[in-house]
Amino acid sequence: MSASETGTSAPAAAILDALDWDEIRRESLQILRDLIRIDTTNPPGGEISACHYLAAIFQRERIDYDVFESAPGRGNIVARLGSSGEAPPVLLSAHLDVVAADPRTWTHPPFAAEVHGGYVWGRGAIDMKNMAAMEVACLLAARRSRIPLRRDLLFAGVADEEAGCRLGSLWLAEHHPETIRGEYAISEIGGFTLNVGRARYYPVQIAEKGICWLTVKARGTPGHGSLPNRDNPLIHIGKAAQALGLKMLPMHRTEVVDGFVEGLASRQPALKRMVLKQLLNPRLSDLILDRLMPDESLANSFRAALHNTANPTSIGGGDKINVVPGEAFLRVDGRTLPGQSPETLIAELRALLGSGYDIQVDQTMPPTEGSFDDPLAGVIGRAIARHDPGALVLPYLAPGFTDAKAYSQLGMKCWGFSPVRLAPEDSFARWFHGNDERIPVEGFHFGVRALAEVVFELVT
Ligand SMILES: [Zn+2]
Repeated sequence: MSASETGTSAPAAAILDALDWDEIRRESLQILRDLIRIDTTNPPGGEISACHYLAAIFQRERIDYDVFESAPGRGNIVARLGSSGEAPPVLLSAHLDVVAADPRTWTHPPFAAEVHGGYVWGRGAIDMKNMAAMEVACLLAARRSRIPLRRDLLFAGVADEEAGCRLGSLWLAEHHPETIRGEYAISEIGGFTLNVGRARYYPVQIAEKGICWLTVKARGTPGHGSLPNRDNPLIHIGKAAQALGLKMLPMHRTEVVDGFVEGLASRQPALKRMVLKQLLNPRLSDLILDRLMPDESLANSFRAALHNTANPTSIGGGDKINVVPGEAFLRVDGRTLPGQSPETLIAELRALLGSGYDIQVDQTMPPTEGSFDDPLAGVIGRAIARHDPGALVLPYLAPGFTDAKAYSQLGMKCWGFSPVRLAPEDSFARWFHGNDERIPVEGFHFGVRALAEVVFELVT
């Protein structure tokens, strides 16, 4: 197929076709399996061991790199391939830490990277040592092909994402911004196949919700436990917990969620298409989420994508069994949509809870929001079309947070694209932080190739 047929820019296509793909597949799979075997469960993290492993690869290939230890054992590694500097750099980023895994609840050991039934099993297989291995493979391919680059190609393997990024991407952005700054940061969450009915989609994260962690306090009349009174602050705080847990805050439409829902609907049968589209109708949206969406976890994801949320996660007040305290509290994990702020969230909470509550903001991070109206959307769309014809790329809003928070502080455009081809029986949502996390070997190789095409088109 010629370059014009594939849509890849001519030099990028020719260079990619000339690479030894058997070797790239073998080597990238080995890197993935080696990384899974380095246990970087956070806490305590211990990402420095993974950094040393990657450093040895970069050293062997004569790729410039630095290892930064943000705290003892908490390693971050940054590598750089130089260019003519015609355009700003592209950063490929992956966090090297993983969440805990209890081997007793796994079919195969979580840190052995065994291959069974066409899958590599292990913690980090899709979140996100796969991406680290794919990114390193891209750097090695670019380095060995000796192609002239018009953008520096950067790699960051970072610590501590699973516990809030403080010792990883946020630390790098604060202490060594010059080593990672560029136009684009490519990382999680997105690029996996989302199978809905017969249609296949590839969500690509371009936005994520902000954080607004709060403490809600209620005051009341203290007294002896033997004399119940209705102004007990625990009653007030209990009411608040119930309201926050069961009622929804107002709906807000955003460009990214509109794009996601409309794209998703466009490939579904007529009835489903109609129901999905009405999710964006403020008068019907909540009704559909409550009554017409049989899959509770899907309904929850849409709720989070269409609303600011304020989820009670801790409750307390008083410490003596026979004393009614004067005050009680609720800790609330608040998340704000793009376009929203702590102030708008608090106004919504006041309207929901009514008077009598103190609302105190404990910690905030703003939402991030990019646009699909960017050349990179076309580059990703073409790469997916070549390797999974008929599938549709969708803009995606992540309800949680990722390293994109740190990179967007540096003014970078953050794209969650860690491509992996999944079959309908596979489930990204189930494996992500779940038991028996695994990645199909073929789906991983699909990802290496798709990512390489995207990266080469950007940097050559
Ligand atoms: Zn992750």
